[in-house]
Amino acid sequence: MAIELRNSKIAAIFKNRPRLSREGKTLLTMISMYCSSRHGSTDSCRECDALGDYAISRLDKCPFGEGKTVCSLCLVHCYKPEMRQKIREAMRYAGPRMMPSHPLMAINHILDKRRKNPLRAV
Ligand SMILES: [Zn+2]
Repeated sequence: MAIELRNSKIAAIFKNRPRLSREGKTLLTMISMYCSSRHGSTDSCRECDALGDYAISRLDKCPFGEGKTVCSLCLVHCYKPEMRQKIREAMRYAGPRMMPSHPLMAINHILDKRRKNPLRAV
């Protein structure tokens, strides 16, 4: 999915939810980094598009909403096993590459990690 389309889709889904919107953009950016390296796609392949859509739908339904911690620290495992496996692989690839390529996203993720106890959205 083209980046402009991706960002406008995210803006529509996460209207008035800046934290989730930012996290959604980070997720899709990381998936596309992984896909272009591993699947040779210039943007993202069908499988990774499906993974991205799934990840966004999970984020949209996150019970902690704007108060969430990072997914890797969450105690609720909301992904189905197959998708969990796929997202972990993508994050393992893209994670160490975020600081040089997308420093703001990387720093925000580090700050989000400090939120150990998820707060319910008000
Ligand atoms: Zn792919």
